[in-house]
Amino acid sequence: MAADSADVGVATAYSTIAANLQSVHERIAVAARAAGRDPASVTLIAVSKTMGATVVAEAARAGATALGENRVQEAEEKVPEVARLLADPGAPAVAPAWHLIGHLQTNKARAAARLFDVIHSVDSLRLAQALARQTAAGPRPLQVLLQVNVAGEASKDGFAPDELRRAVTALAGLDSLAFGGLMTVAPLTDSQDALMAVFQALRQQFLELAGVFPTPAWQHLSMGMSNDFELAIAEGATLVRIGRAIFGERE
Ligand SMILES: *Cc1c(COP(=O)(O)O)cnc(C)c1O
Repeated sequence: MAADSADVGVATAYSTIAANLQSVHERIAVAARAAGRDPASVTLIAVSKTMGATVVAEAARAGATALGENRVQEAEEKVPEVARLLADPGAPAVAPAWHLIGHLQTNKARAAARLFDVIHSVDSLRLAQALARQTAAGPRPLQVLLQVNVAGEASKDGFAPDELRRAVTALAGLDSLAFGGLMTVAPLTDSQDALMAVFQALRQQFLELAGVFPTPAWQHLSMGMSNDFELAIAEGATLVRIGRAIFGERE
């Protein structure tokens, strides 16, 4: 596991993060090829939650093109701060995309629509409607994924699999949102079989829905984290959300 970034100075943290990023990219490519997939079909979301703006900007400079945050409040400070740190008129432009991967309260929809390019965690129709209202006036559609509670865990947000058809039907009427696919957070377990079953179930949902609803672009399966992303890629993940393997353990 990577060194704890809190223990090291900025210069070391930079080279550690750059090396970690490269190694994660390599592992993604190996897993994709092993599954007969093009490595370019898997996008790495570097999960920067709890990490300071300086470290996050260094990750972006080292090639992290998409960053994942789980709290709007944290992102409200971090997104502009990282942009400021990356604004270097003498260097090539670096402008990472921001992905919200954590639970979003409806009353924070306005801020979320402003800060983020992709929301992975749409877990209710009320939230989808609030996001659609906030995005309607904006220049671009907001990309959203539906979060699915595949294993039916009481502690997890997300639609139950049998609610998805209704949700996708409702989303189709919200023009300002660009529906992109499904997301899940696998249970905390070391059992490869249990993880595999969850990733397979999400993929199955994805394929079934894509058969029933041909119109939205069924592009993304957001699944897989530091501990299980290779399994997720084997099951078709197109977005993997990886924090600790890049930034080290969180406090
Ligand atoms: C924190 C988080 C991740 C990243 O987890 P790591 O174990 O650090 O890779 C991925 N997805 C979600 C929803 C998270 O909250």
